[in-house]
Amino acid sequence: SDEASTLRVENLDVTYGRAVSALRSVSLDVPPGSVVTLLGANGAGKTTLLRAVSGTLRLHRGAVTAGAIRYGETVLDGQDPVAAVRAGVVQVPEGRRVFAALTVDENLRSGGLGLGRRTPERIKEGRERVFTLFPRLAERTRQQAGLLSGGEQQMLAIGRALMAAPKLLLLDEPSLGLAPQMVERIAEVVREINAQGTSVLLVEQNAGMALALADHAHVLEVGEVRLSGPAAELARTDAVRRLYLGEA
Ligand code: ATP
Repeated sequence: SDEASTLRVENLDVTYGRAVSALRSVSLDVPPGSVVTLLGANGAGKTTLLRAVSGTLRLHRGAVTAGAIRYGETVLDGQDPVAAVRAGVVQVPEGRRVFAALTVDENLRSGGLGLGRRTPERIKEGRERVFTLFPRLAERTRQQAGLLSGGEQQMLAIGRALMAAPKLLLLDEPSLGLAPQMVERIAEVVREINAQGTSVLLVEQNAGMALALADHAHVLEVGEVRLSGPAAELARTDAVRRLYLGEA
């Protein structure tokens, strides 16, 4: 059912240490099959929200202090990353963090480690899916990941996440620092992944790209949701045009 694969974030408060309040009463849903984007300036709390969903918040000394995160029946707040991955929720971290010293293939094989139940067939299927999406990676399976271009490393980071067969992919600034052509390629890939049935929660500074991809958008300002709506509608509001689309 739809409910079984809906992400629901309800009235979420997150703090780092004792003093820093990063999110306050944030609520949003990611319905199955949809692309939802989070826009906002540096420090608005976008990455923090992804960390809370993927169970990586604690690695950054953050904690959920109120509210709830559920993916279907599974409670994700306060869980670790393995629990999120088992539930089908996988994050691609910001900054294309691949294992630089390992090969492309070794990086891919590391995707979904700890999941158990990973048969050679599953791995083969995963690699085929990744290589169909990213033919460039197929040509470079034995290359050291650290020697790939920035765009190729971003593809590898996404590919590694896909190896865990996510139902919901959390993407943190996939276009950051990439040339316009590569940004367009990443946008196409997000569309393709979504068309294959994976929901996407996308954090982007590139609001034009994000609003073109997304069904629904939320604007975060200093830890709070300020605007929410269908992406096409938000793209027409004065505030979004001025602040995030760089229009006069
Ligand atoms: P950016 O686009 O710059 O990554 P963001 O919208 O993703 O910004 P976050 O990285 O979620 O914002 O940061 C939200 C707030 O939490 C900021 O005030 C930031 O300084 C703070 N913060 C983030 N990580 C930590 C941490 N590990 N310890 C303390 N404070 C943190």
